[in-house]
Amino acid sequence: MSEVRVRFAPSPTGHLHLGAARTALFNWLFARHHGGKFILRIEDTDVERSSREMTQGIIEGLRWLGLDWDEGPYFQSDRLNLYQEKARALVAEGKAYFCYCLPEEIKERREKIISQGGFWRYDRRCYYLAEEDKRNFEAEGRAKAIRFLVPEAQEIEFNDLIHGRIKVKSQNIEDFVLLRSDGQPTYHLSVVVDDMAMKITHVIRGDDHISNTPKQILLYQAFGVSCPQFGHLPLILGPDKKKLSKRHGVSSILEYHRRGFLPLAVVNFLAQMSWAPGEEERVYSLEEMIEKFSLEKISKGSPVYNPSKLEWLNSQLISQTPGKELLTLIKERLLQESLWRDELEREKEQWFSGLLDLLKERSRTLVELVNNCRPFLSDEFPFDSEAVARYLTDPRLPGLLSKLADDFRQLKNFKADSIERALRRRAEQEGVKAAVLIHALRVLLLGMRVSPGIFDVLEYMGRDRTLQRMSRLAQVISQRSLEGKNIRD
Ligand code: GLU
Repeated sequence: MSEVRVRFAPSPTGHLHLGAARTALFNWLFARHHGGKFILRIEDTDVERSSREMTQGIIEGLRWLGLDWDEGPYFQSDRLNLYQEKARALVAEGKAYFCYCLPEEIKERREKIISQGGFWRYDRRCYYLAEEDKRNFEAEGRAKAIRFLVPEAQEIEFNDLIHGRIKVKSQNIEDFVLLRSDGQPTYHLSVVVDDMAMKITHVIRGDDHISNTPKQILLYQAFGVSCPQFGHLPLILGPDKKKLSKRHGVSSILEYHRRGFLPLAVVNFLAQMSWAPGEEERVYSLEEMIEKFSLEKISKGSPVYNPSKLEWLNSQLISQTPGKELLTLIKERLLQESLWRDELEREKEQWFSGLLDLLKERSRTLVELVNNCRPFLSDEFPFDSEAVARYLTDPRLPGLLSKLADDFRQLKNFKADSIERALRRRAEQEGVKAAVLIHALRVLLLGMRVSPGIFDVLEYMGRDRTLQRMSRLAQVISQRSLEGKNIRD
């Protein structure tokens, strides 16, 4: 095979959404697997709907996912002359023709045919236009489009790399517009001209483009150039089996970043919707995916968006990431939440990395990880009211906690095992279950009812902070009941 050259060609009329990101990913994997080139082309010829902001968002989204490109970004809006020149060349060769029809004229003719029960295709009026009529239109300065002359009675056939053989009869295709009367190219023209110019070998794109492919094949034939190979990826569906959209709570790829997902988890999620890199359900590295990637292995059926799979992949990845790396990953978020102190990556780096190693098992996203860190970094953290009511209102607690605090003060080392021994001994002496103290400490120290092993938590919290939080019992209870009152009132 000659050098593989593929492209991702988004129209910047919206965010980089999940479906487009998956198209980009499969192109990228294909290019990297074959040692080829991945090209980024921004299809911004629809001036009114395209925006700089969306282009920027697409570029940021690709960067965040780690999908680097070898060429581009090329902008179609910079290449208008080329499209116009190519369309005119087809007219000169008799493979396309000028069309002077006004939209309202076409509408009228179409409605008439349809009202008579007919099937409308552009009726080639301008192809058959008398020379004199043409001259008149030119003299009156009427704007003209360029239409492609679709060959008669031809069967267009191609071997889709995912769907297999596809055949279409040319009589079902009308003479489509290549260049609009304002000089703007249509998608078919610009995409084919660019794919030729950029020597694209494989066009990998969404299923929604299958019906466009025969038209584009006709254009390649008209230009006398061999076609790239085509592979159409099945569209992602929402849980209701309708095309995935904003309604399903999914928007830009960068939104996943905001919500604390790691790029590799999102990449795995996207890939695994239509393709399994291996036997196991797990997070695969980019290198593994590149090595194993093959278009033939992509399933033909439409995958269904399943956000819990993404959460699962993300939690797997977080729990496999060393605390030290997690520290770098959440630094920005901690800064935003005013939880960052420089000592966390200096004197206290070991402590903080260790803490992240402890907390990561219970964090499905980086947002959750930051929330789980909060009580270790600040005295301002929320309390679960139900947990307060359930675990902090035992009348024996004030006495028990003050004795336990004395025990803690006397410990030589404030380490998990000595803390545990002291707590169990105290519970035994007082004739209460250790769980009474454990639950109470968890709520007092963290505000929540679940956490990693409480003795590790205490060790990481440190003696001073632990004692200080234990002394807040009365305050926490009165604050909670006050809040409860406010809510009820
Ligand atoms: N701009 C088109 C889109 O975003 C590209 C289609 C193609 O890849 O040919 O759908």
